[in-house]
Amino acid sequence: MTAELIDGKAVAAAERDRIAGEVARLAERGVVPGLAAVLVGDDPASHVYVGMKEKDCAAVGMTSVGARLPADVDQATLFAEIDRLNADPQVHGIIVQMPLPDHLDEIAAQDRIDPAKDVDGLHPASQGQLMRGVPTFVPATPLGCQVLLERHGVELSGAEVVIVGRSTLVGRPLAMLLSRKGVDATVTMCHSRTRDLGDHTRRADVVVMAAGQPRMLTADMVRPGATVIDVGITRDDDGKLVGDVDFDAVAEVAGLITPVPGGVGPMTRAMLLENTLRAATAAAEG
Ligand code: NDP
Repeated sequence: MTAELIDGKAVAAAERDRIAGEVARLAERGVVPGLAAVLVGDDPASHVYVGMKEKDCAAVGMTSVGARLPADVDQATLFAEIDRLNADPQVHGIIVQMPLPDHLDEIAAQDRIDPAKDVDGLHPASQGQLMRGVPTFVPATPLGCQVLLERHGVELSGAEVVIVGRSTLVGRPLAMLLSRKGVDATVTMCHSRTRDLGDHTRRADVVVMAAGQPRMLTADMVRPGATVIDVGITRDDDGKLVGDVDFDAVAEVAGLITPVPGGVGPMTRAMLLENTLRAATAAAEG
């Protein structure tokens, strides 16, 4: 392997240390950041994710509030729970764990969250601020990608960045984040209808893969020395976690590369804490 590895675990650990320090300083002023996770039903994966978020909160001195609702809860009761958390001064950040059962409206649930507590960054107010170039809360995964690039000194101003994926959760907010004034990348967003994907990725200084297609970025699609960020996570037939990048081959061409697991994933977890810290700090400052 010739590329330098971007160690997401190490960067995330450093971010958590910094966040823990800031949480301790806030606590001296009587404010303990609190994150509430609304969990509907018994989906085992969702329970694991919420459990991890609660553990992450505890590790940096934040409190977490579990809001568990039965799978057959109606929309009005879900809204009432979100309203209760919106009004609770101990709660600075609220997430609604997705997916919700089919009879519930996920977008309406996201829109119900107070924008000041929207630590997942999915409320239209947060997305609008990002579109304006003055982000409040940015979804944790794109924020984590940006921090990884910055911490590794990757020059973004004027750089060609190609993002494969245009979801509301990852591709689109990342494009907004990196193309805004002050960051100044030239961003191309690709998707399933893009003609000749390799044509785009080959001219990129930075390629971000967020398509959820195992090992689709091959070595011939990468310019020598480019930075490759792999957001994708899928499981192969043996149950092993794989990314969207054909890692072994691409690592012979790229200059910097993230592994899966251990790249973007840990950063996503750390950036939810960062957003919760920002929400609590803003609340403390009134
Ligand atoms: P979505 O399924 O919402 O979006 C996938 C995007 O990739 C779409 O825009 C789609 O295009 C595009 N796409 C799919 N196939 C191709 C293809 N063959 N060529 C070009 N573009 C393609 O996924 P998410 O954005 O939510 O997640 C993407 C991946 O990142 C998943 O593997 C997910 O598990 C992972 N993920 C990882 C996180 C982490 O912390 N590491 C956090 C969040 C997600 P179109 O719009 O045309 O359909």
